[in-house]
Amino acid sequence: MPPLQQPCPCGSGATYDACCGRLHRGAALAETPEELMRSRYAAYAVGDSDYVFRTWHPRTRPDDLSPDPGRTWTGLTIVAAADDWVEFVASYEVGGAAGEQHERSRFEQRAGRWVYVDGEFE
Ligand SMILES: [Zn+2]
Repeated sequence: MPPLQQPCPCGSGATYDACCGRLHRGAALAETPEELMRSRYAAYAVGDSDYVFRTWHPRTRPDDLSPDPGRTWTGLTIVAAADDWVEFVASYEVGGAAGEQHERSRFEQRAGRWVYVDGEFE
């Protein structure tokens, strides 16, 4: 986990503690799909698989969510967001090679909480 006063991996400009960290430790809930998406990206970046698991709809959640140790997440850009979807580009490095994941994610409210349902990849 990153030190709490470091910039949040989601790129908001706030500290990890004041941004996605408070969602990861259960002190707050994401109020919008974009906030949930950012916090899920940050969870991948800090290796918080438990948070990724509990914010994934049980219907579509894979059994194995163990992090890929060879992958480092290096940045997030939100392209667009509305209603129940978020389009984003997440950057990463694998074995020194840079890559991007461009996805349009769909979210759903379940018992008052936003959860990730699935995504279309560009
Ligand atoms: Zn954040």
